[in-house]
Amino acid sequence: MTDYRSDTFTKPSQAMLETMFRADVGDDVFGEDPTVNKLETLAAETFGMEAALFCPSGTMTNQIAIKCHTQPGDEVVCDKLSHVYIYEGGGIAFNSGCQVKPIEGDRGRINAEQVRSAINPDDLHKPVTRLVSLENTANRGGGSCYQFDDIKNIRGVCVDNNLALHLDGARVFNAIVEMKENPKDYGTTFDSISVCLSKGLGAPVGSVLLGKKDFIRKARRVRKVFGGGMRQAGYLAAAGIFALQNNIERLVIDHQHAKKIAEALLKKPFTGKMMPVETNIIIFEVIGNYTAKGLAEVLRKHDILVMAISETQVRMVLHLDVTERMVEETIKVIGIL
Ligand SMILES: *Cc1c(COP(=O)(O)O)cnc(C)c1O
Repeated sequence: MTDYRSDTFTKPSQAMLETMFRADVGDDVFGEDPTVNKLETLAAETFGMEAALFCPSGTMTNQIAIKCHTQPGDEVVCDKLSHVYIYEGGGIAFNSGCQVKPIEGDRGRINAEQVRSAINPDDLHKPVTRLVSLENTANRGGGSCYQFDDIKNIRGVCVDNNLALHLDGARVFNAIVEMKENPKDYGTTFDSISVCLSKGLGAPVGSVLLGKKDFIRKARRVRKVFGGGMRQAGYLAAAGIFALQNNIERLVIDHQHAKKIAEALLKKPFTGKMMPVETNIIIFEVIGNYTAKGLAEVLRKHDILVMAISETQVRMVLHLDVTERMVEETIKVIGIL
């Protein structure tokens, strides 16, 4: 089976499992797990940020960040396709008592002017605009990347208006390697960053939340409240360290694979509109003889798994468990459909 449904389907490699097995552990709720502490230090240093917090999921790192930046009744500004808004179970309302001002962005990305005009005036009828949340790469934008200047312009609006700026960086390393960026520029631009270790980086579990020392101290308290305080979590953190040390540069391979498969798909009559393939995600419309589900079923017969994300759209995601040989095989199968 070649699984293109998501980059969350990766399984730890033998080498990753061996480092997990050897991890030195302790009770992380007491701050005594040396491997978790090492992961948090490594992640914070990578982005030039003061501190980090290891959490079970990217949903949790995002939700903790939103809780720490806001008060109930506040408003959060984000793209209408943001994971924090449409894929976290209504968590912004549930956990933080906040509401969202969804922005009609460009493939999941918003701009400084849109943020400026989304800010509510100082009027007691209006919720207080408190936080802006960006997603890079943007999942429902087909893995689209921000231009860093656009992020800086948004930062400017946030500073002028006393708004916090959060990054849902579930796939931030895909953006960093593709756009040849420096993670430290992210560290100086965002108040908080959430990074997934369990997507294309290949760890089985985990995300890290980055921010200033005081912010992370508060986040650690909220993590406990949310039930995310783990004990001998070093076994999992070891996988995260391995992922950060070994699996970042290779993400460009996934991007090359995505472009190759996209090329093959574009030659087929069943391929309609395709989103520009910028990183490891392909989203395309299925037209003609196949429905999205129908195409997924046919591919499954050839041991290829893809996801129908709407009535008409199929998504394929590249990751480290898809080898060059598997990509070639997939291109062959696409050729005969
Ligand atoms: C996967 C993902 C997350 C976090 O998901 P979890 O499954 O909770 O780890 C957050 N944001 C985006 C954009 C994602 O793709």
